This record gives sequence, C-alpha cells and structure tokens, in this order.
Amino acid sequence: MLARAQVVIVGAGVIGASVAYHLADRGCTDVLILEKEATEVSGSTARSAAGVRHQFSSPTNVQLSRYSIERLKHFSEEVGGHAELYQVGYLFLINDPTTWEQYRHNVAMQREYGVRVELFTPDEAARFIPRVRTDDLVGATFGPDDGYCDPHGIATGYLRRARDLGVALQRETVATGFEITGGRVTAVQTNAGSVGCDMVVNAAGPWAGQVAQLAGVNLPVLPYRRNVYMTAPFPQIPGPTPLTVDVGSGFYMRKEGASMLMGLSRKDEPSSFNTTVDWEWLDILLEAGLYRFPILEEAALAEQQCWAGLYEITPDANPVLGRHPDLPNYVDASGFSGHGIMHAPAAGLVVAEEILDGRAHSFDIDELRITRFQKGALHAERNVI
Ligand SMILES: Cc1cc2nc3c(=O)[nH]c(=O)nc-3n(C[C@H](O)[C@H](O)[C@H](O)COP(=O)(O)OP(=O)(O)OC[C@H]3O[C@@H](n4cnc5c(N)ncnc54)[C@H](O)[C@@H]3O)c2cc1C
Repeated sequence: MLARAQVVIVGAGVIGASVAYHLADRGCTDVLILEKEATEVSGSTARSAAGVRHQFSSPTNVQLSRYSIERLKHFSEEVGGHAELYQVGYLFLINDPTTWEQYRHNVAMQREYGVRVELFTPDEAARFIPRVRTDDLVGATFGPDDGYCDPHGIATGYLRRARDLGVALQRETVATGFEITGGRVTAVQTNAGSVGCDMVVNAAGPWAGQVAQLAGVNLPVLPYRRNVYMTAPFPQIPGPTPLTVDVGSGFYMRKEGASMLMGLSRKDEPSSFNTTVDWEWLDILLEAGLYRFPILEEAALAEQQCWAGLYEITPDANPVLGRHPDLPNYVDASGFSGHGIMHAPAAGLVVAEEILDGRAHSFDIDELRITRFQKGALHAERNVI
C-alpha cells in the first residue's frame, strides 16, 4: 500500500468514486481510495432501486438533482462508461388534500429551478398503469425528466476514469483509525498499515457514522434496511411506465426489464446492518400495492431476485457534506438517505471543491454541513420514499 497520499477516500461506492473522479479531473491524482471489501461498489450502491428524480421538497435537493441528472445524461461523453439513464418519469399519486397542497407548493418551487413537472387529475394519471385505483385520489405530479439509471455503471465509470488518471484503489483495506496531531488528521490507520495524508474523505455510506467515530466526530448517519421485491416478467403492465409512488402508503414500483420492481420502506424498523430480505414485510407491501394497483394480483414473485440493502439516514434525510469545523482536513460525504445515486455527480463536484478550493462554490452547501445538527437548523427533506 502507498505510504502516503494527498487525499485518502474511505469507501469505494458511488460517492467515493465520484469524489475521486472529480479530484482527478481537476488534476489532483495523488488520491488513494480504501475499500474494506474484496470488491468495489459492493455496498449500498449495488443494492439501490436506481431511481433519479427532481421532485424534492427542499430547493437544495432540487438543485443537486438538476445538476446531477444533466451530468448522467452526458455521462458516456464526459466520464466514459454507461449511466444507462432512462427518463421514463416519476409519478406521485396523492390521496389527501393536505399532501396535495404540499406537492403543489413543491411543484411551484421545482419549476422556479427550471424543472419540468406536471400536475395531473386522477383520470390523467390513470393512463400510465392499467386498472390503477383512482376513486380516492386527489391528484398526481409527474416529472417527465425523472427516471432510473445504472448505479453500478456510474460508480465503475467514475472509478475507471479516476484510475486511468492515476488514482489508486486499495481493496480489502479497512480504515480502523485516524492519527490526529495538532487538530489535523495526519494518517489513516488500516489493517494493512498506516497511510499519511493531507486530507481524508469519509465516503463510507451506511458505515460513515462508525468511521467518523474513529476520528472522534459525532456524525448522525445510521444504517436502515430497505427491501426490494421483484416479480417474474409481467407484460400486463407494458413498459415504459414511470416510477410510480402511491404517496399515501409509500408503495412504489417501476418496470425493470420485463418485470416489476417494488418497494415500501419499513420506517419503524430499528437501525441495523441486516441485509437479509424481510419476507414478513412482503405481506404488508403487497396489501398496499394491491390496493392501488389491483393488476398486481396477476403477478408472480421472483423470490431469487429480491434483495435488501441499507439506506444511510440522517435526522433530516439530507446528506452531510463538507469539511468539519474542528477537524478541517476531514471531509464528510455521506448520509444521502436514499438519494445517493442520483446526487453522486453533484456530491463529487462540491467535495472536490472543498478539498481543492477550500470551500464548495458551485452550490451553497451550508444547509448540508455537519454544523446544522449543533445549531438545530434542520431543513428536513419531506419527499423521502
Ligand atoms: C433498497 C435501496 C434502494 C435505494 N434506492 C435509491 C434510489 O432509487 N435512488 C438513489 O439515488 N439512491 C437510492 N438508494 C440509496 C443509494 O444506494 C445510496 O445513497 C448510495 O449508494 C450511497 O453510496 P455510498 O458510496 O455513500 O455508499 P456505499 O455504496 O455503501 O459505499 C460505501 C463503501 O465504503 C466501504 N467502507 C465502509 N467502511 C469502511 C472502512 N472502515 N474502510 C474501508 N471501506 C469502508 C463499504 O464497504 C462500501 O463499499 C437506495 C438504497 C437502497 C438500500
């Protein structure tokens, strides 16, 4: 292993990969990525539902999406590799007037940032999914530029380009501690020895809270299990269809190849690193799904293709980005709360700016800095699936 690198990044998921690419693209190639597993891109990035959307309640998240989705559109030319962006849209079905009011308000804000979003009546929304139940719906919002992508293609595309430019990746290397001298991280300790550094980035995804603890930093990022269930090929819902969310229950589904991909967050489950599929939860999910989409009665489950992974969640469902005020050469890049794939391009850009320019300037990330938790200045993202 290298004895020293200008920047050490802990974690080779989509976020660590994006940070490495954005540093290298600006000429900073003395970068070492540490990955605890034998294979890069094997954490949350390998287990996501791959959705990308502009439809958030917070202006900061709308801006992160605007930038990131534009980059994903041009990924092959700009980075190389394949983002496989399919802009089939996101459709939010809403069944109560208070939520409808909030969504209408969000749509006005999203449009101010140049996002295309449409407001639909229940009848207009019904055209996407055969036999969808609309009698209790108030309305729907549709973002035609939302959709889904290939998270593995994005992460490996960033990593390949970064490594071509000179970035090093060290697999099976666990960051186990930090040497801190004079209020700065001087080295990262690992199972393979110590590596000196000028800057360190915590991009450890669901493990970021634990990694921060090693530096004495209290980072409120916790892992929560999320399940994805797949049907066998299901031509009764012909694609392309938008990623459709029944906002009242939280049930969502989209087409994945010929099959349907379905999810529903179990929000009362305690934090854990458990990634076995929750089969008990399937009954609750199906009840919600069948209520809104009775056509799913005809679908068969593809048990072998279901999976579970970890959301890395913060108290306000927003990421933690930027230098730490008490440890200025330690930079957070985690806590994406279910949005890390779609926000990876913007996150890599601003973290590279924090490192190379002293401060992010393409976006104002003050709302996302760790200091918000001490100040109690939280602007929670409400549109979380
Ligand atoms: C079921 C599910 C559905 C999702 N759906 C979406 C979606 O539709 N859209 C979206 O944008 N996002 C979605 N997400 C969230 C998204 O997957 C994550 O936000 C994103 O992958 C986070 O990337 P990351 O690089 O921070 O974390 P990871 O991909 O987990 O990478 C972190 C890496 O750090 C390594 N690491 C940890 N600790 C150490 C250590 N001490 N030393 C060395 N290496 C270490 C890990 O092994 C891992 O490889 C979903 C997540 C799940 C689980």
